[in-house]
Amino acid sequence: MKLRIAVVGGGASGLAAAIAAARGGAQVTVLERGRQLGRKILASGGGRCNFTNSCILPERYHGGSPDFIREALSRFGFQEAMAFFSDLGLLAMEERDGRVFPRCGKAQAILDVLMAELERLGVEIRLGIAAEQVLQEGGGFIIKTASVPWKDKGAPVEVSGEVPCGRVILACGGVSYPQLGAGEGAYTLARSLGHTVTALSPAQVPLCVKENALKRLHGLRVKAAVKTFRSQREAAQSEGEVLFTDYGISGPAALDVSRAALRDPGQGPAQGSLNLFPGSSPQELRAMIEARWTGRSQRPLKDFFLGMFPAQLSGAIADALGWDPRRPLDSLGREGPQRVAALLQDWRFEITAGRPWSEAMVTAGGVNTDEVDPHTFESRKVRGLYLTGELLDVDGDSGGFNLHFAWASGLSAGRAASQSR
Ligand SMILES: Cc1cc2nc3c(=O)[nH]c(=O)nc-3n(C[C@H](O)[C@H](O)[C@H](O)COP(=O)(O)OP(=O)(O)OC[C@H]3O[C@@H](n4cnc5c(N)ncnc54)[C@H](O)[C@@H]3O)c2cc1C
Repeated sequence: MKLRIAVVGGGASGLAAAIAAARGGAQVTVLERGRQLGRKILASGGGRCNFTNSCILPERYHGGSPDFIREALSRFGFQEAMAFFSDLGLLAMEERDGRVFPRCGKAQAILDVLMAELERLGVEIRLGIAAEQVLQEGGGFIIKTASVPWKDKGAPVEVSGEVPCGRVILACGGVSYPQLGAGEGAYTLARSLGHTVTALSPAQVPLCVKENALKRLHGLRVKAAVKTFRSQREAAQSEGEVLFTDYGISGPAALDVSRAALRDPGQGPAQGSLNLFPGSSPQELRAMIEARWTGRSQRPLKDFFLGMFPAQLSGAIADALGWDPRRPLDSLGREGPQRVAALLQDWRFEITAGRPWSEAMVTAGGVNTDEVDPHTFESRKVRGLYLTGELLDVDGDSGGFNLHFAWASGLSAGRAASQSR
């Protein structure tokens, strides 16, 4: 008799786990509460799916213990991710900062190759079925399920059911992007089986700021470095595109520092800093500003920035310095150039909050990694139970690190579950 394995969650880590478990000879069923598999895979990377990174390093991950992350990644790095997808027939290409995408530019290609493999292996897929409870029984498990009504057509009537199995892989994701199937339910399941869950907070999320000068830049994109500070100490920094919005800042560089800004709300609001000239030293920038200033001393401040920045940004800079943009440069005093140079490289602002969960790409926090084996992803609390992906207290930087962890944990768990006796 084949070992029966139930995978709860048909996202990235669940599909990887199902493939590995079926390859290991198990009879596998995937329970997915949505009506479609891999919804986050399809939404990822702006629909292009940045599925791994050529520089997978433990330092790019946060949350769980560093030892857990190091061990977990030691057996599944970049080469292994590429080999897995290449075997499935995927053509990939690497872009800036080691980000890897399907060569055709479509996230659908990832889902297509995974689904073809699930079909080849005879994995049973049950859509619209949510796991409500996982009960231990006779050395195995009974999963109590409920069918999830679909909004747009007469979907399954609310029916409850049971799925008996020898092993369970919980791959239900985090709480971010509830519109794509995420929810607190998975943590309730994990807690009911004796696991502890660390505090949850949004990561890779746009930031709300206090300063109106920044909000007035709504719609503008710049290349900049962003830092966040906690209790006057630098907490995170990133460089890249920043998008100004009517509530604050978004774009890759802002998303990358959001985790550190929002992780400990008890410490009060975090501070942020924008550097609009990250490639220049303070001395270089000051020399450049002074030279420009000297040649334009009779002209109004608003003209000083022409050719440097869009007019919208020039106005906001004048606003942040508290100067009327119509004033001539020589009326701004000897300190003028110095103050401009200082602001351009350290434009301070207060971070009041993160945007809601529906805009957070990743969940920071989750099932305590001390309770999970980093090689097999088996629970240290319940034999035969495995936990993978974003459900765990591990989150990565942007750049393909989160999906990489989903494949790594899913494949390791599926393989180990199918081989366990
Ligand atoms: C908009 C967006 C863009 C992103 N872009 C990238 C990117 O380019 N690169 C990157 O590395 N990461 C990206 N991420 C993050 C990445 O998608 C996730 O970290 C990853 O999908 C997590 O995989 P997972 O299997 O743990 O969870 P998920 O992919 O969320 O899958 C969990 C599944 O479990 C199902 N489920 C939950 N509870 C139950 C239940 N009780 N019963 C049955 N089913 C259940 C859910 O419906 C869901 O389908 C992005 C995320 C978002 C939201």
